[in-house]
Amino acid sequence: MILKNKVTIITGGARGIGKAIALKFAEEGSDIAICDVNADTLNVAREEIEAKGRSVLTGKVDVTKLEDVQKFIQKVLDKFSKIDILINNAGITRDGLLVRMSDADWDAVLSVNLKGTFNCTKVVAKSMMKSRAGRIVNIASIIGIVGNGGQANYAASKGGVIAFTKSIAKELASRNINVNAVAPGFIETDMTAKLSEDVRNRIMKQVPLAKLGSPDDVANVALFLVSDASNYITGQVVQVDGGMVT
Ligand code: NDP
Repeated sequence: MILKNKVTIITGGARGIGKAIALKFAEEGSDIAICDVNADTLNVAREEIEAKGRSVLTGKVDVTKLEDVQKFIQKVLDKFSKIDILINNAGITRDGLLVRMSDADWDAVLSVNLKGTFNCTKVVAKSMMKSRAGRIVNIASIIGIVGNGGQANYAASKGGVIAFTKSIAKELASRNINVNAVAPGFIETDMTAKLSEDVRNRIMKQVPLAKLGSPDDVANVALFLVSDASNYITGQVVQVDGGMVT
């Protein structure tokens, strides 16, 4: 078990990639704290993680609200006494062409994807700095590297997450905290289930490995980035995209 006696917080961990990471880390011995905005999916995820034999804490928390994040992190510390790993995974899309994009859609995406990452990292980093150890993995996107028409808000938020990752890696390195990002391509989750058959076929043509990725493909890389095998890696962006962006 690679993560025996570790404590991991995963935002947006009730479904999709976040839940896959939670289940994989639980299998590897980590206790798990997940926060999400949906109480029903949180309960389902809690049962699935508990079935792996680990302690679980769930919290209905909107990562855009600093006060809620602070309260949740305090509950995690009260229950587990420490935080070894933070996975900033909560994310949303509100796609639309620039000229038709509302302020609300711009703000919502920047707020969850970028401000949420800032909020959680800021609060958790304080505890990690005291323990002089920690691993942070931010889930970005290849769209944050290459951009995408119709996703200016999403691309800006994920590009921001990548720049944030590189800056925080430099800031926290002296405290033995490694900070990296994973940039998935197209992964089979509810987020991509919304895509039409036509769009999926067009995407598939751009993927050299000719298939969508699975949440487990992302979870495996996150596991590597929080394990001792990546001790000398910080400030990096690992693409999990089937060769789509080179
Ligand atoms: P999903 O939509 O399947 O899951 C996202 C989770 O985050 C949901 O449980 C959602 O809750 C939760 N969430 C949304 N807003 C908030 C919030 N304000 N506070 C807390 N939790 C919140 O997405 P994926 O699993 O596909 O994506 C996970 C991450 O991976 C995201 O950051 C996404 O941008 C990124 N990514 C995904 C790709 C893909 O192809 N799927 C590709 C590249 C990156 P609710 O159930 O209520 O919606």
